[in-house]
Amino acid sequence: MNPWPDDLLALPHRRDVPFSRLTTLGVGGTCRWLFEPVEEAQAAAFVRACAREGIPFKVLGGGSNLVVLGDVEIPVVRLRLPAVLRREGCEVEAPASYGHMRLAADVAAMGLSGMEYASGIPGTVGGALRMNAGAYGRELVDVLARCRYVAPDGEIVDAAPAPGEFAYRRGLPGDRLALGLRIRLAEGDPAAIRERVEACRSRRGSSQPLGRRNAGCIFRNPPGTSAGRLIDEAGLKGTRIGDAQVSLEHANFLVNLGAATPAEFGELMALVRERVRDHHGVDLEPEVEIW
Ligand SMILES: Cc1cc2nc3c(=O)[nH]c(=O)nc-3n(C[C@H](O)[C@H](O)[C@H](O)COP(=O)(O)OP(=O)(O)OC[C@H]3O[C@@H](n4cnc5c(N)ncnc54)[C@H](O)[C@@H]3O)c2cc1C
Repeated sequence: MNPWPDDLLALPHRRDVPFSRLTTLGVGGTCRWLFEPVEEAQAAAFVRACAREGIPFKVLGGGSNLVVLGDVEIPVVRLRLPAVLRREGCEVEAPASYGHMRLAADVAAMGLSGMEYASGIPGTVGGALRMNAGAYGRELVDVLARCRYVAPDGEIVDAAPAPGEFAYRRGLPGDRLALGLRIRLAEGDPAAIRERVEACRSRRGSSQPLGRRNAGCIFRNPPGTSAGRLIDEAGLKGTRIGDAQVSLEHANFLVNLGAATPAEFGELMALVRERVRDHHGVDLEPEVEIW
């Protein structure tokens, strides 16, 4: 018997999708119920039905900040809104399911400056809103004019971010389903914008294991130091459990060499934390979300 009400099951969905296909790391169990609204009204209907029935759910974007360590039985919602940008002067609107790097590239091609920092940050606009994604001293809230989301009661809200609502890697609260955003940029010299985009890309290429599947930085930097340095100094670079490995390029990246299992990945994360605790007396906190 299906566990969900008819109005939920009437929304576009798929069953039993492996998380290896839904995340950049490529590790995980099975997503039993993947709901994929293709319009805002369907996203709102999804949230309303879950609220009415008291059904907990998870929101998935590009899966680039996620480590999935098992099967997920509750509904997972991933938006598939039409990939259309709307420009008005120096402001651009994008749907939450739009690629974050694609948005950075598209606005740069329009001669608009302000999102060059985002050139190498994968995932979706929705994930970037939730995480307040950033790099090199810049973050999404610096250019964010408004965001559009489904509130926990299923109402669609369009509002400017409240002062102090966004902070370092903390964006839209977790009980909201982001639908899209409006960013405010500045006219710029296209050649200078291109140069800044290239500079951000090449800086990443030389410091991150871009050829291996990964979920970005796994642990938060403790105050005053970098997690990567602590892991490196604990002698862990290259440490491997099955196909899960501490990257040789950047110790705060744990990579999937091909067929890492959730158990191997969970074990490697626990080993890194234990060794860093023994070596430095520091308790590393995950930066990634763990499901
Ligand atoms: C190689 C690599 C480099 C990276 N570099 C950076 C970096 O420089 N800076 C940085 O900040 N991050 C970085 N990241 C991490 C990651 O790319 C960002 O956190 C990104 O914004 C996550 O977006 P996503 O769509 O993949 O979200 P997911 O990983 O799918 O989800 C992350 C969180 O966002 C929530 N979420 C997703 N979509 C929505 C939505 N529509 N509404 C509400 N909540 C939603 C999820 O529920 C979850 O809580 C990197 C990752 C990788 C793999």
